[in-house]
Amino acid sequence: MRAKIVEKPTYQMIGPLKRINQKETVLSKTAWDPDFQALKLKYRQRRNDRIQTGNQVENFALRDAAWYLADSLGNQAGFMHGNEGLYSWESLARSEENIDSQVEVQKIEISDPADMSEKIKNAGRFLGADLIGLTELGEFWVYSHSYNRLNGQNDTINISFEDFKFAIVMAIEMDYEKFIKSDVEVSAATGLGYSKMAFVASHLAEYIRNLGYRALPCANDTALSIPLAIDAGLGEQGKHGMLITPDFGPRVRICKVITDLPLKPDKPIDFGVQEYCEKKCNKCVENCPAQAINGKKEVKNGVLKWTAKGERCFSFWCEQGNDCSICIKVCPFNKKSIYKK
Ligand code: SF4
Ligand code: SF4
Repeated sequence: MRAKIVEKPTYQMIGPLKRINQKETVLSKTAWDPDFQALKLKYRQRRNDRIQTGNQVENFALRDAAWYLADSLGNQAGFMHGNEGLYSWESLARSEENIDSQVEVQKIEISDPADMSEKIKNAGRFLGADLIGLTELGEFWVYSHSYNRLNGQNDTINISFEDFKFAIVMAIEMDYEKFIKSDVEVSAATGLGYSKMAFVASHLAEYIRNLGYRALPCANDTALSIPLAIDAGLGEQGKHGMLITPDFGPRVRICKVITDLPLKPDKPIDFGVQEYCEKKCNKCVENCPAQAINGKKEVKNGVLKWTAKGERCFSFWCEQGNDCSICIKVCPFNKKSIYKK
């Protein structure tokens, strides 16, 4: 089925919608919940065992290199919290020796948001986004609080929804060849996706700032990426709970830039994912080693949707000492893009 543009996204809002505190997400819990702290220790132990006894030094060396930007200036892909490093909400300082330092930014007048939207999409693709779409920023998708795993700070997220009306949502394709190999190679592709996110989101945010507007680059922090990506017309949610795109299936990572730049939002798409997952396929359920996907839709924070049980999923990661993307790997929508040869 070809993707058709629709007026409403294919998830169902049941209500009441509730903003989520980032502290309640699985990876945040590894900093404060004793059960998850124990799992984190197990993960590290198992990972070290695999590197030292499993003759996997080279595989892990490439894996960890791919995660480098995400894990350093990329603030652990926003799993830590937002507004830091490359995901800072203001420009990072340049050296005074930089001869290109801006004198003063001139704010441009925008009389045609549709034209500006095209420029933003072109810039996003130039900077490395494989997919890009625009949406109004649904307040309910923004976390109520950020959470800093290093110091336990759990601050309210105060974004002015009057000013920051839009989100630019971008998907980065993860390497297909790596995704058909071992879990460590899959993780290398995942890490590179996260590292590219930090590059693309921060650079697009800087472009917007150079036009005189505000831009908040985000990874997994600050707002829920999947519903924003659906609203922006990038894809639909599948039974494994992840975004499925027409071009790359679920083999993408998502980042976004929240902005006060006037834009023309895109509309959601429908290419038959709901019916296919409902009636024709159950591969992610059958292949998940943690039984974390049960294939039943449930109401979560006011939205009827498929979700994976994050605790079970993370427990499996800790068993194998590495993350897992089997549900992405086995999904029939995980195909090689016909556009990227
Ligand atoms: S990542 Fe692995 S463990 Fe987690 S839901 Fe997917 S298949 Fe299951
Ligand atoms: S594996 Fe099958 S059921 Fe699961 S998300 Fe993909 S298409 Fe849907």
